[in-house]
Amino acid sequence: ATAFLAAVVTLPGATGPHRIILAITALILAVLAFYAAKTASLTTYGINTKHAEKLDRRLERGIENLRDAHWELRENEARYRDLLDSQQDIILRRDVEGRLTFINAAFCRSFAIDAENALGQNFEINVLEGEEGGDLTSLRSQKIRCYSQKISTAYGPRWFEWEEQIIPGDTPQGCEVQAIGRDITEQRESEIELQKARDQAQAANVVKSRFLASMSHEIRTPMNGIMGMTGLLMDTELSPEQKSYSRAIDQSAQTLLSIIDEILDFSKIEAGMVDIENRPFALDECVQNVVELLAPRAHDKGLDIAWNIDPLVPRTLSGDEHRIRQILINLIGNAIKFTDLGGIFVDVKIKAHPGECRDTAAGSTMQKIGLQFHIEDSGIGISSADQKTIFNEFEQVDGSTTKRHGGTGLGLAISRNLARAMSGDIEVESVPGKGSIFKLFLTVEADPKTPALKTNWPQTTKRRSVLLRLDSPVQRRALSEALQAMSYEVTGDQAVAGRAWHPGDQPSPSYYDAVIFDNMTGAEEAAFILKNMTRSADDPNPPMGVVLVTAAERHDLVAYQAKNIHAYLVKPFRPNSLYALLQAEDKVTLTEEEAPACAAGPAGTSTGKAHVTPRNILLVEDNEVNATLARIIIQRAGFSVVHVANGARALDKVAKTIEEGMPRFDLILMDIHMPEMDGFEATAGIKALYHARPAVGHAPPIIALTANAFAEDRTKCLEAGMDDYLAKPFEISELNDMIDKWCAE
Ligand code: ADP
Repeated sequence: ATAFLAAVVTLPGATGPHRIILAITALILAVLAFYAAKTASLTTYGINTKHAEKLDRRLERGIENLRDAHWELRENEARYRDLLDSQQDIILRRDVEGRLTFINAAFCRSFAIDAENALGQNFEINVLEGEEGGDLTSLRSQKIRCYSQKISTAYGPRWFEWEEQIIPGDTPQGCEVQAIGRDITEQRESEIELQKARDQAQAANVVKSRFLASMSHEIRTPMNGIMGMTGLLMDTELSPEQKSYSRAIDQSAQTLLSIIDEILDFSKIEAGMVDIENRPFALDECVQNVVELLAPRAHDKGLDIAWNIDPLVPRTLSGDEHRIRQILINLIGNAIKFTDLGGIFVDVKIKAHPGECRDTAAGSTMQKIGLQFHIEDSGIGISSADQKTIFNEFEQVDGSTTKRHGGTGLGLAISRNLARAMSGDIEVESVPGKGSIFKLFLTVEADPKTPALKTNWPQTTKRRSVLLRLDSPVQRRALSEALQAMSYEVTGDQAVAGRAWHPGDQPSPSYYDAVIFDNMTGAEEAAFILKNMTRSADDPNPPMGVVLVTAAERHDLVAYQAKNIHAYLVKPFRPNSLYALLQAEDKVTLTEEEAPACAAGPAGTSTGKAHVTPRNILLVEDNEVNATLARIIIQRAGFSVVHVANGARALDKVAKTIEEGMPRFDLILMDIHMPEMDGFEATAGIKALYHARPAVGHAPPIIALTANAFAEDRTKCLEAGMDDYLAKPFEISELNDMIDKWCAE
């Protein structure tokens, strides 16, 4: 009975709870058997045999039940086995020694091996590529480990994704490692194909961008001819009809050039050819220049434009001024383009507190500074759906206004890419019909020792209180922010500003050092207030009335002077000019507000001045038309010119001036791309000629004359030994300035 009990308990396939049930059943049977045996022996000794038979039957029934339970267990096991064998995934288990303890049919098929031969073996899977499976110790620290491998199978090399985990046993040595492998070959191959296609598309994109870059560069050369020659034509005697035709040619050429510039710029960014410079610059001047450049465009549309800068911005920053200017021109230009009523406000603030420091090679410490520019307009606005797409290339809001204004739809894409290259970004907030705010974020650097702009405006006791009587909300905002940054007491008297003033009105009870206004009604009121404020006649800082005018409105000043208002500020006003005006000593200087560059009149008119000292200029240019244009300009400036068509001939000519004692050239204008010998090689050759003969002095200044219009091209020319740079197509005035700079008398 005991042996039977042991055999039952150790029946194969019996698991924990089953074993317990079987054990109890077996125990009962054993007791019954014992009892039966005893009964039999009693019978032997003549005791009741009927009772023994009864026991026997019970014993038989028990054995029958036990057989059924065992059979059921085997059924279950076979079902599970089928389930695992019907899986496509490979399933295997190993013991701690790495020997296989379980494998499914997919394993046998994949490695062409029978279960009998594989089980109990240290079967090695042949890994061709991919990650290594870790050891038992590393697996213990993770719950499940996943990795992919290319392995050798009966069907050839296949990619498998493995999922491994530990199946705990009764003892640490009894645990097993279970691995399930899924064939991911198809998925993996399509990923590789996709990657290949992506790489090819990117390569094609770079080729396309390079093509665009070189095409637009090539187009600039004939454009130089068209624009330059039109300029010369317009300087001659023309009938009104001819004048209007020439102006049309000039305007079309300008438009074409700006389109080419955008395409060139975009393709350069696409091709990853844009480097961000890190040079010192003054942010207030940069913003001021852009606003002043675009102000005439805004004023022509009857729009107001003003700007303001955080007084805590350091006076000098380090970054790429050229690119910041480019982004601002685009954003402010758009704001003007898409606004018909109201105005544009440009606000510059320090966004983030100074960031981490960097020690430079020169030994100074630079600190990162986050800047935030808001360009706010009261224009047509952009719907939220369009806000998502306008930053994509060639994307424009499809409205009649956009069509009316033209453009390529590249400006915002370029600007955002540039901002991102400067660790920043551009975002937009807009309400259709109300206006838009374009937010530009940038990171620049500054020496922590650099003083802030605020130090430009030290506080004094002179003229401390200012009344603003301005109808334009844009100017009111700009002036009150600027005055507050300069620590003035500002009264933005909305009540006064909002209504017409009548001569019988009582003056404002307060006393003001200055009243700033922006139209004739304001002037009447200011004159009245100023007159009625009691002040001693010999006051060294008499109260002042200041009128804001646009550059074009300066002829109206006479009318203001008649009302005894002599001081004026030209819009968009400069903070430094505002401060200087309020600090001015007496009435005489009050009118000395400097007009911004935009008011200086159209640029590009030939001065045609004659120089006393004859100068000799070597022009190296292969394009016939451009050469003729440059020659005329040089001659008009009063210089003599020698023209050659490539670098080799230039070198030849310069060598002759040294060897044959011919008059030396005072300046060399050098094209870059030329047949036979390019501008870089010729420059190096000319410098070498002079270097070899120190007795003949320095080489003449060499000015690159090229169609490459970007800062990095400029750097390239300077690195090649050239002294300066002039981008084609150049204005007549630009060439004149260059000649003046290098051939100063
Ligand atoms: P472009 O000005 O050459 O069309 P951009 O990329 O600069 O190209 O601008 C894309 C589009 O975004 C514009 O065509 C216009 O529809 C919209 N947009 C840009 N700025 C403004 C703005 N300030 N107000 C309204 N719409 C704007």
